[in-house]
Amino acid sequence: MKTAITGGAGFIGSHLVEHLLAAGNEVAVLDNLSTGRLENLKGVIGHRNFHFVEGSILDRDAVDKVVAGADRVFHLAAAVGVNLIVDHPLESLRTNIHGTEVVLDSVLESGASLLLASTSEVYGKNTSDSLSEEADRILGSALKSRWTYAAAKGIDEAFAHAYWRQFGLPVAIVRLFNTVGPRQTGRYGMVVPRLVRQAIAGEPLTVYGDGHQTRCFSYVGDIVPAITRISEEPLAYGQAFNLGGSYEISILTLAKRIVELVGSDSPIILVPYEQAYSEGYEDMRRRVPDNSKAYGLVGFDPKTTLDQIIMNVANDYKPAKVLDPAGWKITLAS
Ligand code: UDP
Repeated sequence: MKTAITGGAGFIGSHLVEHLLAAGNEVAVLDNLSTGRLENLKGVIGHRNFHFVEGSILDRDAVDKVVAGADRVFHLAAAVGVNLIVDHPLESLRTNIHGTEVVLDSVLESGASLLLASTSEVYGKNTSDSLSEEADRILGSALKSRWTYAAAKGIDEAFAHAYWRQFGLPVAIVRLFNTVGPRQTGRYGMVVPRLVRQAIAGEPLTVYGDGHQTRCFSYVGDIVPAITRISEEPLAYGQAFNLGGSYEISILTLAKRIVELVGSDSPIILVPYEQAYSEGYEDMRRRVPDNSKAYGLVGFDPKTTLDQIIMNVANDYKPAKVLDPAGWKITLAS
């Protein structure tokens, strides 16, 4: 099978590339190396079935180049990370809305199928016990740049759905909930790599707000096979699927756990949102997925524990210190 991946040099994209090459796919990646890095692909560069094009999803020619001849396309390229979105709202809106339109048009013309990576951010401030795919979206003011990512991704989904309805484009949507793992950078937000780095460096762990906001972190090693299976399932076309972790944790408890696991002496400090981001920033208090739809279709049942996730991120960050088993204060949860 020939697969094209936009954003294939990113954190999730690079794991997907490895997964698909191992499954015998020929893989072509388009990435503009803005937040993605060639270093993420160092294990596959030179592989005979791997092709790389440096370019933007805003450039139709570049998109056509990787999509040409592909049986399926994964559209992962996007401006991501709360810091990036808040600091560069216009660029993010253009990339995330217009870039997706370019990809949809290219894929429609090529005859391939498409998997669109969306996000749990689309639910906004909905704090339900268990967000189903049909749950309402509760977004803040359109004038707050914080919501531009959620707004743009919601429009992307609407575009994809309209292409399915109107043109029969075989497109499936996945909504990713706080995917974490090796290679994820904390530079653009992303709490786990940030706190792990701080703990290893002996710096204070910066928990924003009161730390009681919760998330369900999922492991990239569980997410990538699920995305792949969904892309191979015709029943998924025209549908959206939540993919998240099953364990809800507050950010303050997460920080404490990271300190314990890394064996760090770092203190944990609470940083007001206005200081961490900008004036008027709004966070999501809670975000818990109902994964039953993806479980029903492809058996999605994430097994990696949060402790394992944290340890894998820590190992990736600084193997020399963290790989020493004696350095761990607790044993792995099974
Ligand atoms: N967060 C934090 N400290 C950091 C970075 C993030 O306390 O150094 C918080 C952030 O405010 C949010 C949660 O951690 O409540 C998850 O943030 P992330 O940017 O990883 O994901 P998202 O907000 O998209 O769920």
